[in-house]
Amino acid sequence: MCVYYKRKDDSFGPSLSLHFQFSTILMKLPIILFGLVFIILFCTVTAQVQYQNTSSALYNTNVNLTTVYISDLQGRHRNVSYYTVGKLAIVDGDIVYGIEALLLSRRVTATILERHALHKRVHSIFHDSPKKWPGAKVVYYYQSLSVKRKVQAYVDEAKMRWKKKNPFLQFEERPVCDEPVAGQLMITSIDCAGCYANLGWSSSSELYMNLQQPSGLCGRGCYSNEATHEFGHALGLYHEHQRPDRDRHQIFHCPNLMDPKCCNPGTCCDFSCFFRIIPNLDHSGPYGMTSLMQYRANAFARPGLITLESIPFSEEVVPNTNPGFPDLLDNMRICEIYLKECKLSPP
Ligand SMILES: [Zn+2]
Repeated sequence: MCVYYKRKDDSFGPSLSLHFQFSTILMKLPIILFGLVFIILFCTVTAQVQYQNTSSALYNTNVNLTTVYISDLQGRHRNVSYYTVGKLAIVDGDIVYGIEALLLSRRVTATILERHALHKRVHSIFHDSPKKWPGAKVVYYYQSLSVKRKVQAYVDEAKMRWKKKNPFLQFEERPVCDEPVAGQLMITSIDCAGCYANLGWSSSSELYMNLQQPSGLCGRGCYSNEATHEFGHALGLYHEHQRPDRDRHQIFHCPNLMDPKCCNPGTCCDFSCFFRIIPNLDHSGPYGMTSLMQYRANAFARPGLITLESIPFSEEVVPNTNPGFPDLLDNMRICEIYLKECKLSPP
């Protein structure tokens, strides 16, 4: 309220009051500026803490990536970034391709047109696929008693989460063994190797799931949420954020990657390949933003930034933390893959 005009005898009222107001603002300017800086710093630190608190070995950036252009098992050409753990090559962040020598044997020289060609059904698993576990039974064993002690609780929790809505799934544990056995999943816990698993089953391949635990060199671990995600791969599910319709549901910020490279559409290398859309991946049904196989907002991002952003005003929100449970669509897809067993006992 303007009270200065009430003093009829004060002809200097308005100019004096304006001067007073200006002086007051000048005096308070440092406080206002300090307040603004404090708010900005607070928001930045809060965002960083939010993401740092949810750091996960699922997004293992402590790796040396190599990008190669390959003709994959279906004869289609594409770029893949991979890191190695022993002889294994891990692609798309956490999926075991097979031994590195196999991956390198598939390298091809490509024309630009080929590089932009669409590659169909690169790694999909279908109900008639030979890559599904026979009888919907995952046969696994621990590499050693030490590994079992470290990760059994997470493995058991992950199994329980899958079986809860998919009681037809079976998990059979075999005795501890440090030799790989074709057609069976060896659970390891190699330091600093991240979380990873094969996609689906193979009668002739050695199958692995690694659940890194915190160590002196690498502080992050793969716990129940990550183990449930890896069992999703082992059962045959691919990443939700690599579906062909991904960009209709979220915005990928390639420049925010830990080491942003090859961000032009149609190309990828290093980390950007982990967000490569796989055309005609079998995604069976609507997009599942709450899918266990969806990356969280700051996956492979620099601290305080996000790589996957929700579309403004959309009801679909990219999760800030690792999804931990299969959602309805995940369960429906598993049912679709293991149709015969699911029909007897649907979710
Ligand atoms: Zn994954």
